[in-house]
Amino acid sequence: METSNLVTASLVVTTILIITPFFVTPKTKDSKRKKKNNLNKEIEIKTYTFGLINQGNNICFLNSVLQSLASLKGLRKYLEKKVESNLSDTKRPVSFALHATLERLNEPLTKQQSFIATDVVLALQANARRLINRQQQDAHELFQLLIQSLGAEEDYDRRPKSLLDLEIIKKLASKDEKITHFVSDRNPLRGLTACRVSCMKCGYCGPIRHITFDNISIPLPSGLPSVPLDVLLKTYAGTDFIDEYNCPHCSLVETLATIENALENAKWTPNDKENELKLEDDRQVIKKALATDVDTDISSQLQLTKLAHVKSTASKHTMFAKLPDVFAIHFSRSIYYQSGWTLKNPCKVKFSDSIDMMKYISGGYLANMPSEPMSSPPSPILSSPMSSPILAGIGASSRRSDIPCEGGNIYTLKSVVVHQGDHRSGHFVTYRRKEDSDIWWRLSDEYVEEVKLKQVLNEEAYMLFYEKAQ
Ligand SMILES: [Zn+2]
Repeated sequence: METSNLVTASLVVTTILIITPFFVTPKTKDSKRKKKNNLNKEIEIKTYTFGLINQGNNICFLNSVLQSLASLKGLRKYLEKKVESNLSDTKRPVSFALHATLERLNEPLTKQQSFIATDVVLALQANARRLINRQQQDAHELFQLLIQSLGAEEDYDRRPKSLLDLEIIKKLASKDEKITHFVSDRNPLRGLTACRVSCMKCGYCGPIRHITFDNISIPLPSGLPSVPLDVLLKTYAGTDFIDEYNCPHCSLVETLATIENALENAKWTPNDKENELKLEDDRQVIKKALATDVDTDISSQLQLTKLAHVKSTASKHTMFAKLPDVFAIHFSRSIYYQSGWTLKNPCKVKFSDSIDMMKYISGGYLANMPSEPMSSPPSPILSSPMSSPILAGIGASSRRSDIPCEGGNIYTLKSVVVHQGDHRSGHFVTYRRKEDSDIWWRLSDEYVEEVKLKQVLNEEAYMLFYEKAQ
């Protein structure tokens, strides 16, 4: 690395030191681990990997995220395609910088080495000025900043290209040549949830809505020493309850009752004939809405009537409609007290080195009947959530899938981000699986050591990264 780059990196890193005083304390145990590593040279020679220097001792959250992402083969492939496309890297600085850094972190080494993630820092700084106004405080926020930046660069790819571009016209005229940069490959972190709200008073089911995600954030229960990941996922992809739900069906029913009461009981005079007719028209509009589409906004069609707004309790059912190739989970560990105190929740999540996502996903059929569950897990033989037509796009509401299964939904643990310390200060480390192996490293900035899976699974996870089998 050139000296000028190092100087620039130092300036940037110093800037981050001033704006991000969170979660950072000096390390004490790593010097001992380094000495221990030197005693096991034979093992280290086989398993060396780059550490990331924490210049200024303040970017461990960045280093931990980069080391975690380096374990994700699907993300590396996605970035590689970005880099291989024809557009100038000036339009996608984060994609290029992240790709170069993750590839370097996967280079085989014969001795321990470290570097500063200067390129990513510079690219993020440039994007942060353009995209966001707040500072990154911890590993999860940094992760989100990275993904947002990649998304913004992906959006650039999707902008309509000018047909005055001679090269594009040539490619359009060629039947054999693919216009690769017209189509963006899907971000492997992107998934889709399906959500249905049902009124518990009348049984009305709202339309099934789909929401994209690139990671899920799960609050941990307070007061429990530990909780299985399976329970957290079932709770996340399960049923919740909403108070004060504005039910459109209950509102129409009450409005209709009010109109009919007025029509039957009011003492209409000949002078009121016009209003009586208008009210009768309103009744027909509401009866039609109840019979056809409760969700249609009919307020502009009503002449005399103002719609009632009936509140009720509703159940909210959520399922994973389309799983991402890389499943990123963040555990919210903040406990907020009325006194203003915020403490870290020490609840330990019991996780394993693989999970079967089949039981958390919707089948190919999403029901919007109140008497039916929204969906059942798909048969492993008959359908695949990754290929199901219901899951192919946003906005679909209810279709059946009979596409043969193209693979299971087993996800393998690839990396774990751990926060050591309390809510106000601490240090981020990452446990990362070596590509295509069962070797695990503990990476604390530039300090690297090989560890057993048992140690990884016993850690107090802050973020987990699972990847679907390729
Ligand atoms: Zn209702």
